[in-house]
Amino acid sequence: MDDLKNIIRDIPDFPKKGIIFKDVTTLLADAKSYQRMIDLLAHRYIGEKIDQIVGIEARGFILGAALAYKLGTGITLVRKSGKLPYKTHRVTYDLEYGSDVLEIHEDAFKSGDRVIIADDLLATGGTMAAVIQLLDRAGAELVECAFLAELEFLNGRSKLPDGKVFSLLKF
Ligand code: AMP
Repeated sequence: MDDLKNIIRDIPDFPKKGIIFKDVTTLLADAKSYQRMIDLLAHRYIGEKIDQIVGIEARGFILGAALAYKLGTGITLVRKSGKLPYKTHRVTYDLEYGSDVLEIHEDAFKSGDRVIIADDLLATGGTMAAVIQLLDRAGAELVECAFLAELEFLNGRSKLPDGKVFSLLKF
């Protein structure tokens, strides 16, 4: 797994001073690494009954779409405010400064659909916790939150349901 960890690039002081940004574009651009990441994640769920993958805008789409293709499921998009064209459920969540809104189509799921949510990185967990609220409202059953990587020192897991968080890489 060190090969995948090492190909992720650290950008100090982005987007602001004191943050070390984990730049996954270097991993995504490398054919072998991208394929390995998706194969490893997909392997975890092969044989399980999964109805939908949910991808979080924007990097979650890149993981989620490949994972859905591999598992033979559809993909549902969680997007920033005002991007989805049909009726939506909306959730407002706190950021370090201010707040943001995420949306999902109201008719995204059949009741009880078993769903995996995909995103690139678990930091404080605020984003994923908000998406789980959207899933609850839309009537889906969460199987697991799947991340490429997790910043363990931020303890984002504590905001998410016990036993329903998986990350391939830990920093
Ligand atoms: P959070 O809600 O704090 O768990 O943040 C999660 C979202 O913000 C993810 O979608 C990440 O893409 C992005 N993010 C937060 N912190 C970082 C970081 N240090 N490096 C790269 N992306 C980050």
